[in-house]
Amino acid sequence: MPFSLPDLPYATDALEPYIDKMTMEIHHGKHHGAYVTNLNKALEGTEWATKSIEDILANTSKVPMAVRNNGGGHYNHSLFWNIMKAKGGGTPVGDLSSAISRDFGSFEKFKEQFSNAGLTRFGSGWAWLVKQHDKLVVCSTPNQDSPLMDIAEVKGVPILGMDVWEHAYYLKYQNRRAEYIAAFWSVINWDGVAKRFAAAR
Ligand code: MN
Repeated sequence: MPFSLPDLPYATDALEPYIDKMTMEIHHGKHHGAYVTNLNKALEGTEWATKSIEDILANTSKVPMAVRNNGGGHYNHSLFWNIMKAKGGGTPVGDLSSAISRDFGSFEKFKEQFSNAGLTRFGSGWAWLVKQHDKLVVCSTPNQDSPLMDIAEVKGVPILGMDVWEHAYYLKYQNRRAEYIAAFWSVINWDGVAKRFAAAR
C-alpha cells in the first residue's frame, strides 16, 4: 500500500475546547482513514501507485475521480493536523508576518478574508492561504480539491488550510460554521505554517 494514515501529532483531546475529542477521533481515524484506504484502492495497478502525493495532485486532470477525491483528502488532512496544536493561536512572527501584512494590509484584514473564504464556501470544502510565486493569496476549494491540483482555479502551495466540511465541526457546533471558524484561530500552529511558508520559497 503506497499511502498510510499518519499519526496525529498530539492527543485527540489536545484541541479542546475549540475542537472536541470525539470530532478529532472520527475525523482523523474514520474520515482521513477512509481517504487513505480508498486512495490505495483507486491506485492499485495504475502507473500512479509509485508517485508522490504531490505528483499525483499536480496531475489531477489525468487521474480518475476517486484518486482526485481521496488523494486530495489524504493531502489536505495531513496538512490540517500539522497546522493546528494545543495552546495554538496568536499571530505569526517573522517573515510570514511581514508577508501577510504586505499582501493583505494587516493580520486582521487577512483573518477577515480567510474566515470569509471558509464561511462562503458553499457545501463542503476548504479555505486556504496559498503561496503563489512571490505573494500570498486566500482562496477556497470545493470537496477535497487542493490549490496544488492542476485543475485548481487558484493555484499555488497551500501553507494554511481550514476544513469546512460539516464533519469537521458538526458534533460540537452543529450548523454554526461561523462559530467553528472563530474557534479555529485559537488552535492554529503558526510555527507549522511558517515552516510550510519557508519550504514553499
Ligand atoms: Mn475533513
